[in-house]
Amino acid sequence: MKYVLFLTVLLLAASVILVLILRGNGPSNAGIRAMQASDGLDHYRYELVFRPESDELAATLTLQYTNRTRETLNDIVLRTWAGAYGSYKTSPASIDELFDACYPKGFSEGGINIEGVWWNDAITAYSFDDDASTVLRIPVGMLAPDMGGTLRLRCRISVPHCAHRFGVSDGVFQFGNALPILSVRQDGIWRTDAYWPIGDPFTSSCANYDVTLSVPKGWMCAATGSGTSKTDEGNRTVYSFHADAVREFAFAISDKWQKAEKKLDGITVTAYAPSKDGAKKALDYAGKALRYCTSHYGDYAYSAFTVCSIDFPFGGMEYPQLVMISNTCFDKESADTLELTLVHETAHQWFYGLVGSDSFNQPWQDETPCEYTVLRYVKERYGTDAYRRLRATRIDAAMQDPLPLAVTPGSPISYYSSYSAYSSVVYGRGTAFLLDADEMTGKVDTALKSYCDRYAFQIASRDDFLTTLSGSCEADLDPLAVDYLDTLM
Ligand SMILES: [Zn+2]
Repeated sequence: MKYVLFLTVLLLAASVILVLILRGNGPSNAGIRAMQASDGLDHYRYELVFRPESDELAATLTLQYTNRTRETLNDIVLRTWAGAYGSYKTSPASIDELFDACYPKGFSEGGINIEGVWWNDAITAYSFDDDASTVLRIPVGMLAPDMGGTLRLRCRISVPHCAHRFGVSDGVFQFGNALPILSVRQDGIWRTDAYWPIGDPFTSSCANYDVTLSVPKGWMCAATGSGTSKTDEGNRTVYSFHADAVREFAFAISDKWQKAEKKLDGITVTAYAPSKDGAKKALDYAGKALRYCTSHYGDYAYSAFTVCSIDFPFGGMEYPQLVMISNTCFDKESADTLELTLVHETAHQWFYGLVGSDSFNQPWQDETPCEYTVLRYVKERYGTDAYRRLRATRIDAAMQDPLPLAVTPGSPISYYSSYSAYSSVVYGRGTAFLLDADEMTGKVDTALKSYCDRYAFQIASRDDFLTTLSGSCEADLDPLAVDYLDTLM
């Protein structure tokens, strides 16, 4: 009798576990990595008020900053990328290749208006280094190593009518790289890279965020982090978000989306799309991409992941815990594009999000592992023939393309003046490097996993990447790297 009881209990326990696994609610470590990494990081508190009737976002930032350099600092630099949208001359969306798609009704002015800056509660002067108003320099007296302070900044961000990372188009307000963020200090100076119109000119360190966002009732918000509350106050709704150890906070707001959501291995996955069907499809592909990357590169670091559709001329754009996907990927005939774009952007959660890199000077370092992931995903899911077909169009064709003048996959983005050349050289030729390395050694997946383990929440250099690759592949791959990344052919 006891034995029977024991068996019954065992069977019951087993079936409960099976049900949990099948429902995707099994015991999980979702968010643990980020929570552990959050200890001691700088903290951003943003209070945001969104007014769609005037295309405006009022923002108050309270930043707890600690000087982690070994030198005494006289100033700190924030990147205010939204400033670049203030004029035709400085907008990243005004190059010939993008202008008509981004500004279909002509140039529209956006930008940032700083209303006040305080350092440790004392009002302080500030200045922009550049005509584009993207490098905001704030004096902080003499800030010794390991000392910290509180920076408060109030600003108004004007949203341009522009289908780009930042702008409003087709009923969606898109706030990619729109909020002020600390620059990165390297070799004794603050980085002041221009908002180059090709590639992603952003490099940033991990920090913790708490954000409140007030919107008119009925507007939805897709954002970095986990939604912690949603409260109605009169005719407005206030959303709260928290994010541990992320490189920035991005979001988009719309009253037109359809939403789908599910729990997957403890992660809340949410999709906002033009239609219910599109949201469900995006949710499905995002889940498959998350599972693929988790099984090859290690656990997803956070407890939430969000996909939203926006209007811009790129396939997608990665932000921490959030990917923005072009509306066109949701067209009925674009199911393949939606799936492959989601795989690429989801892989960025590991290559860019988890492990940061210098995407201005070494754009290949996060783009090629993401494209490599797309090809390997297709091979694993759809077989060798599908892989060969995709490789022929994405990689082999790019290898046949003559290289534009004096540009190689290892060049900085500022060497490029066209997206088509950038995409062929970096995504095509650059990715051929990793595919070849894998054909030679069969260990590139292992190398990418150890890269993610070793440099999680840090910024890895080109050397860090290549040393890990050669080490894990047990082969000297430096000559191959030079051949693919640095050699004009
Ligand atoms: Zn990418």
